[in-house]
Parts: sequence; C-alpha cells; structure tokens
Amino acid sequence: MCKNIVDENMSFAAIVEDLLKRQTEEWELCGKNYADLSGTKLRKFDFEGVQINIQCNPGRITSTSAKVDNKSISERKCFLCEENRPAVQKGIDALGEYNVLVNPFPIFPMHYTITNKGHVQQRLLGRFIDMLNLSKDMGEKFLIFYNGPKCGASAPDHMHFQAGNLGFLPLEAQMEKLRSMSVATLYPGTSTVRFVDDGLRKMVFLEGGNQSELNSSFETVFASLQRTQGIFEEPMMNVISYFQPESETYSVIIFVRKKHRPECYFAEGEKQIMLSPAAVDIGGTCITPRQEDFEKITADDLKQIFHEVFVDEDYFLRLQNEVAGTI
Ligand SMILES: [Zn+2]
Repeated sequence: MCKNIVDENMSFAAIVEDLLKRQTEEWELCGKNYADLSGTKLRKFDFEGVQINIQCNPGRITSTSAKVDNKSISERKCFLCEENRPAVQKGIDALGEYNVLVNPFPIFPMHYTITNKGHVQQRLLGRFIDMLNLSKDMGEKFLIFYNGPKCGASAPDHMHFQAGNLGFLPLEAQMEKLRSMSVATLYPGTSTVRFVDDGLRKMVFLEGGNQSELNSSFETVFASLQRTQGIFEEPMMNVISYFQPESETYSVIIFVRKKHRPECYFAEGEKQIMLSPAAVDIGGTCITPRQEDFEKITADDLKQIFHEVFVDEDYFLRLQNEVAGTI
C-alpha cells in the first residue's frame, strides 16, 4: 500500500507536498476536508503580546471528543494500523520506520500523521532523535509535533508524530520574544536549555545543532519530570520541533502539562466548552469543533484552560532546579 515516489531530485518536503496534492484529488473525503479548511473562521486573542488564535473546525470533532481511556482504546480498531486504514490512503516511507500519511481531518493547510509501521505504544523516549530527523528532513516546509499518550494523542496505543506547515502556529513567530522571557538558561555544550513562562504556558526550549546534545538534554528533562512527579510512565507533555536550515539548528519546545482536558470540557449545557488542548492548541491555534464554543469563548476562559492544563509556578521552579542540578 505504501508507495514511494521515484524522482530523486525532489526534496523530502516536496515529496510529501506532492502526496497531499494527489490525495486531495483521489480521496473524496480528503479533498472535501482540505477544501472546507479554507473557509474556517479565526478569532485572535492577545495576552500581553502572547497571541492565541481560535479556529472553528467542525471536522475535528472526532479527535476533540476521542475517548482515550484504556477500555475504549482496547475495544476499537486502531485507525493508524495499515490493515485498518482506508485503501485510498497512501503513505511515504520515512526513516525506514514510519509512514507519512495525509491527515484527512486537517488543522494546517498541509497536515500529516507520521505513524510507526508497528502497533507500538506512543512514547517519545528513545524516539526523540527520530523527531529531530523528521524535523530536518521535512524542515524546508514543516514542523513536527508530538502529543503524549495522556496529553492529546487520539491513538495513545500507536506511536505517531504529526507535521504541519511552518509559519502557521503563532508560537513560532514569538520564539524570539519568548526566549527573552526565559526564567533560566542552561548551556550544555553548544546547545541551550531554556525555561520559559509566558504567563499562559510553562515550556522548556531545547535549541542547538547537535542531535546527541539535544537528545541528552531531552533525556535529562524527561528523567527530571519523572523524579519530581514520582512516576515511571511518560510525563504529561506535548512537544513541537522544527529545523532552521540557514543556521542548521533545531528548536524543540516541550510543554509541561499536568492535566489533559480542562473542567469546562466536561461541564454540561451552557458551561461546556469543547476544547481538548494538545500541541497545536497550546502552540497558539486552539481548535473548537463546535460553532457555539467558537463564538462564546472569552479571554478569561482561555486563561483558565491554560492555567488548568499546565503545571504551576512552584513546580516549574522545582523542575528547573532539578534539571540544573543534573546538566
Ligand atoms: Zn495501530
């Protein structure tokens, strides 16, 4: 089912771009959903210079309302396994271990799911270098993101990344400003580890050009999260990564979470707001599949949602000290 394009002169980013073009032509649902995306409405909020957009996107209802408890997951057919995917959905091999698929329910003008070829658990530890390599291979046009199994992944039982257009998420344009807001910066070798609190989000930035240094910093942050939370499983996090070809450096943003869905998600009637925050949402493009939520959501609602799903200041400081003591 997976077919690679033979033109060796095309960059990997151009190959996946071409895949999307073909899939929107040969796959009706996919074509319709990408066409509908151009009509989505956007609201913009500004929190002292931090921009958060709201995108009204009815096509995302399945993902936003996905049941991700163990029972529901074990009772459904995995939609990322090749045998359960629609025959019309084609893939491009990446790193020998993954298939790049067009996401038929897009948020970005070009949106991909990068699934592992095996049905293996969603875990980032041991696959962080894959994320960097994908960021580099697709870096001309796309960023890569990862949602933790308890933090927004709608298939927590099947390892996958996603990719979307560079220049789409407000976070990217704000990186310079956010760096200047950092509460602490560490310098392992030629790279940096930065703790950033912009009032809405608690983030750790890993930046530099050396993959093994970045991987080692990632492992340190990961282990520090586990130690400070007293857990053995993967800490709650979302990660965004992109590559800048001119400087040959990677920027990795780790969002440090404490909760998957906010209270308003579970509220009833008027009080309910169906917003299920994952990497794209907290990267600055919040998705509301329901028109009513898109219209009624306020700046205070957004502040409350971010406040609930991110770790608090005291914990973030503790994490920073723990990482500083290890690097
Ligand atoms: Zn699967």
